[in-house]
Amino acid sequence: MCSRLLLTLKLISQLLTRNFLQNMNGKLIIFSAPSGSGKTTLVNRLLNKKIGLEFSISATSRKPRGTEQNGHEYYFLSVEEFKEKIEKKEFVEYEEVYPGCYYGTLRSEIERISAKGNNAVFDIDVKGGINLKNQFGEQALSIFVAPPSVETLRQRLINRGTDSEEMIEKRVGKAQYEMSFAPQFDIVIVNDILEIAEKETEKAIRNFISKK
Ligand code: ADP
Ligand code: 5GP
Repeated sequence: MCSRLLLTLKLISQLLTRNFLQNMNGKLIIFSAPSGSGKTTLVNRLLNKKIGLEFSISATSRKPRGTEQNGHEYYFLSVEEFKEKIEKKEFVEYEEVYPGCYYGTLRSEIERISAKGNNAVFDIDVKGGINLKNQFGEQALSIFVAPPSVETLRQRLINRGTDSEEMIEKRVGKAQYEMSFAPQFDIVIVNDILEIAEKETEKAIRNFISKK
């Protein structure tokens, strides 16, 4: 697919989002971070707080990792299936996060969560996070989770034990670049001591949700 066509499809998708936004109940809490910062760990702890948060399950063309299951962590699609959904404008946003690996937020997922009166929580890459925030404005809180250092990030990825050495280096290599997007987020949380990061994030979310 040529890049001009992809750009047009993206713009149409953004217009559709603006339309359905007007009827939405819930808010959006967007988490972005370099891989290995501890974003998933933080998000899972917050989802357990019973404060009306629900995880927005993304679609991806990457293969399931470890114990991941379709419809739980992700909707796992083939590249062909993913591209079909792009053409049908089913995504609010999507990115080719790693070469050949597509990730995207389905419009139907936001509708599903909003219809239940819940606030949708997103775990998406930095570009996707900024894109969503731009589309949803005041209805969204964008949170950047930063590691204390790139070396800590590498060590966390090694300890996690879910990626090959090559993949870890790919993720670490991208981290520096991703960190440069931090100022474009509403808030930055440095995940050094997990409990402190968790408390700071919970406070910001509670504050945001309680605002009219
Ligand atoms: P991400 O979702 O950002 O890729 P994860 O949540 O999978 O990151 O965390 C990466 C690894 O680091 C996991 O093994 C996790 O248990 C660990 N981790 C997360 N936060 C901390 C922290 N504050 N201190 C030490 N280890 C952490
Ligand atoms: P992982 O392969 O580690 O699950 O995810 C790789 C990256 O893709 C992470 O930064 C994750 O936040 C991001 N990601 C997951 N879902 C989406 C999505 O729907 N859209 C975008 N743009 N990125 C996503």
